[in-house]
Formats: sequence, C-alpha cells, structure tokens
Amino acid sequence: MSSETDYRPVSRSGRVNQEAVPYLKRDVAERICDFEEVILGYDNELAEEEASRCMQCPDPQPCTLSCPAGNDIPEALWQASQGNFIEAALVFAATSPLPEVCGRVCPNLCQQGCVLGKRYGAISIGKLEAFVSDVAREAGALAITVPEEKTGKHIAVVGSGPAGITIAEDMAKLGHEVTVYEAWPEPGGVLVYGIPNFKLEKRVVGYKIQDLRDAGVKFITNSRVGENVMIEDLQHEYDAVFLGTGAGIEATMGIPGEDLEGVWKSTDYLVRANVKEEMRPEDKKIVPDIGKRVAVIGGGDTAVDCARSSIRLGAEEVTIVYRRTEAEMPGNPTERKICLEEGAKINYLQAPVEYIGDENGRIKAMKVIKMELGEPDASGRRRPIKIQGSEFIQDVDTLELAVGYWPDPLLGDKTENLETYKWGLILTDEEIGATSREGVFAAGDNAHGPDLVITAVASAHKAAKSMQAYLEGKTIVLPQPKPRRKK
Ligand SMILES: Cc1cc2nc3c(=O)[nH]c(=O)nc-3n(C[C@H](O)[C@H](O)[C@H](O)COP(=O)(O)OP(=O)(O)OC[C@H]3O[C@@H](n4cnc5c(N)ncnc54)[C@H](O)[C@@H]3O)c2cc1C
Repeated sequence: MSSETDYRPVSRSGRVNQEAVPYLKRDVAERICDFEEVILGYDNELAEEEASRCMQCPDPQPCTLSCPAGNDIPEALWQASQGNFIEAALVFAATSPLPEVCGRVCPNLCQQGCVLGKRYGAISIGKLEAFVSDVAREAGALAITVPEEKTGKHIAVVGSGPAGITIAEDMAKLGHEVTVYEAWPEPGGVLVYGIPNFKLEKRVVGYKIQDLRDAGVKFITNSRVGENVMIEDLQHEYDAVFLGTGAGIEATMGIPGEDLEGVWKSTDYLVRANVKEEMRPEDKKIVPDIGKRVAVIGGGDTAVDCARSSIRLGAEEVTIVYRRTEAEMPGNPTERKICLEEGAKINYLQAPVEYIGDENGRIKAMKVIKMELGEPDASGRRRPIKIQGSEFIQDVDTLELAVGYWPDPLLGDKTENLETYKWGLILTDEEIGATSREGVFAAGDNAHGPDLVITAVASAHKAAKSMQAYLEGKTIVLPQPKPRRKK
C-alpha cells in the first residue's frame, strides 16, 4: 500500500473527477456467432487514461480493503497511469496468482469500494488488471520464480481450480515439490470446466498452468482422489496434503420430469458447449442439440453462462426463469446486462413445478408457477412464495438447471477424521485452512461453499501459510467438529 512518504498528489493525474473511460466490447451481432471473448478491454492509451482517474486515497484504501486478496490496487493503478503496465501487473501478481483470470471474471468487489463510484463511476479496476496482465504475459514477465535449492518437502494438492493453483504456486515459491491431482482430463477446475470461453478463454488458464509446470509443479490428471488413491496414501507419500476440490456436485430441484431427455445440469451442458472435444472426458463428447426454445432455471452467474452459451449454439428464444426479483439476484450485474443485450429474457418471480415430456421421453414444455416475495429467509433475501392457481405452461425444447452446487461428499465419506458438515463442506478453521485431520488443509468452494475465484484464492493463501507453519513443526490447532451430515 502507498505510505505517507510516497503519497501522490491527485493533481498529478490531471483526470480527477472525470467520467469513466468506457472499455471496448465486441458488437452483439458478431459476438453471438462464436464463443470468443466478448470484452476487449482497453488499449494503452485508454488504460492510462482510466487508471489516471485513481485518487490515490490514503491508507487504508477502500478498494484494497474490498479485495479479498488485498491487492494493492492504488499502486497498480499508479503504475498503469504512468504507462508502466508490466510493473502494474506485477503489483497485482504479488497478491494473486490469477490476475489475468480475476481481471476477466471477478465481479469486482474492489470497485464497490471505489470512492468515485457514486458520482463518476468506479474505476474499471478489473479491466485494467486484465489489460496490464496481458501486456506482462506477452512480455514474458509473469513467470514464477522458485528457489534453486529445494527444501526436500513434498506437497500433494487435490484439485486444480483457483484454490489448488494458488497453494501450488505459494508452496513452489517456498522451494517445496508440488504434485497436483485432478479428476478432469486437464487442470484448471471451473476456470476450464465451467466458465465459458466468451468470459475467459481457455488459453489464459493454459498460460498459468504452463507457468506452474515451468516452476516444477507436476499435474496428474484423470485422477479422482478417493477412488484409486486415498488421502491416507497421499499422506504416506507427501509431507502435507491440500484439498481444493471445489463444489462440483450440481443441485436439482426434485420436481417431476428432471430425468427427461433435453434437461441438462449446468456444468454438463457448459462443458459440452464450451470445452474443446479433445479436452472433454469420454462421457461428454456429444454437444447438445438444443432446438429453438431454451429455458434456464436459476439466477446466478451459471444461469447467465448457460443462457449465453445457448444463444451461441443457435437457440432463438432463451429465457432465464428466476424465482425472486432482480434485487435478490446473486450473479454479476455486468454479465447479466451483457446477456440481455445478446437477446436472452429473464422471467422474474417464476419457478418450474413440472417438466413435461413428449412420447419419446424428451422435454417439450414445463409447468411454471408465479411467485411473490415474503419475509426474508436465512440468507437475508426475501423468501419466494408460490401464488396458488397461477400455473401456466411454457413450451421448451431444452431445459438447463443452474440452481446451485455442493461439494462432492466422496473425500469426507472415505477419509477417517476428515469432518464435513452441512452439504458436505469440509470443516476448516477459516483463518488457517486446517481441517480436522492433521496434515490435511482445505480451502476454496469445498470449505466456504460455492463463491468466487478471488475468495478461493484468498482462502488458499491462508491455508498455504498454515501449511508452511505445519511443515516447520509449529502446532496447528485443528477445528472442533460441528454438527454434520456424514454417511
Ligand atoms: C459456471 C460457473 C461460472 C462461474 N463464474 C464465475 C465468475 O464469473 N466469476 C467468479 O469469480 N466466479 C465464478 N464462478 C465460481 C468460481 O469458478 C469458483 O468459486 C471457483 O472456481 C472455486 O475454486 P476452487 O478451486 O475452490 O474449486 P474448482 O474451481 O471447482 O476446482 C476444484 C477442482 O477439484 C477437482 N476435484 C474435485 N474432487 C476431486 C478429487 N476427489 N480428486 C481430484 N480432483 C478433484 C475438480 O475436478 C476441480 O477441477 C463460477 C462457477 C461456475 C460453476
């Protein structure tokens, strides 16, 4: 963070109190014909201009406080405003191993802290982060530096999403030998097998995985720990184990007709639509024939990603069906706006109660009920209540379920002393990432529940610190069991 001694007078920027510089986006008509990235972001000149709007707020800067990873945003923006794009990228990279990714997909929690927000529009920190990181990538400046002399300690990381990537990098930088086990054919977690290309091109994740390989990190793919290899086995072979297994089990609503042909769970659908055939597992080679009318159930980022993928696969009418109103919608509002621009519709205060099939067992329609909002529920959002007698039939050719995720219970079920709770979340001390099993750490969606790339990064950094303390022989206090569901 900037200190008193390097305080930069705001007048130096010359752009204080000016409107946001718009970033570039591809035209709708062009972009819905392919799966390539939609947001083009900034060029050199626009980036300097936008970054120079930063007021360089005194410490503690609200943007940095709002970023779960604590990125030193004012310093990065100062460097960018001076045209020092590589230096700016290195500031972001100092606290986040995924600046190119977060710049593209983060809902920009940092921007919510920007003091310019209300009056002039927050600085587009995410777009600047993506821009400067791409410049640094092009210049070969994002390589991971690891000590030549190794510590002799070996770390197993299970899962190669943002949490696994973060701890793999942190531990490799400390001189440990890291091996990552991944169930999918390629590393990257949801960044590859979930988030569509039009938000985040796979090549961006590929660069990061290559950086890790270049730093000596090994990846063992097509390997689901808990099946052939157990955590106990890993603990015999490695000095510490990290679980970054995410929350990959897809929820359903348990309503009649969910097993009809043409009803897809979101990840299954997104993987088939967005991932190259050679990167997909054998059981996901077929790309769905979706017909003309697609309905997506849900209201978060996943629902929006499904809707936008369906538009690109040729659907003529794409409707997101959400049981609350826009005010309660959980996803990124910018992405939602882009989705509407691309032609999707959102039907608020509605929920399906039944899917109806044709004589061949394929979905042809759904029965939908209208809702109204009642009192707030445990999530703090107003509870949707069915309006009896308001049911109607909507014709659909394809139905996509994007109604939530929970962690795979496999590891909790198969591993002694690895406590889980609620829907299979791994019990951890959130501040240190220690699980109830000594020498095993966990962070990301499997520990705090489905959330964001940046929160997985932030929690994995904490787990890396305590794993290092454990390797140094310090005492780690293990979390105490909570009431839990364990089979
Ligand atoms: C469709 C979709 C869109 C999203 N969009 C955004 C967005 O725009 N912005 C944002 O910030 N967040 C978004 N998110 C959320 C974000 O992607 C996740 O919060 C983040 O990826 C969590 O990181 P993770 O490392 O904890 O888990 P994951 O990314 O889920 O990675 C876990 C990895 O562990 C592997 N694994 C699981 N079990 C095992 C096992 N037993 N053995 C070996 N490997 C195993 C999985 O195969 C997976 O590769 C989105 C999520 C989805 C599903």
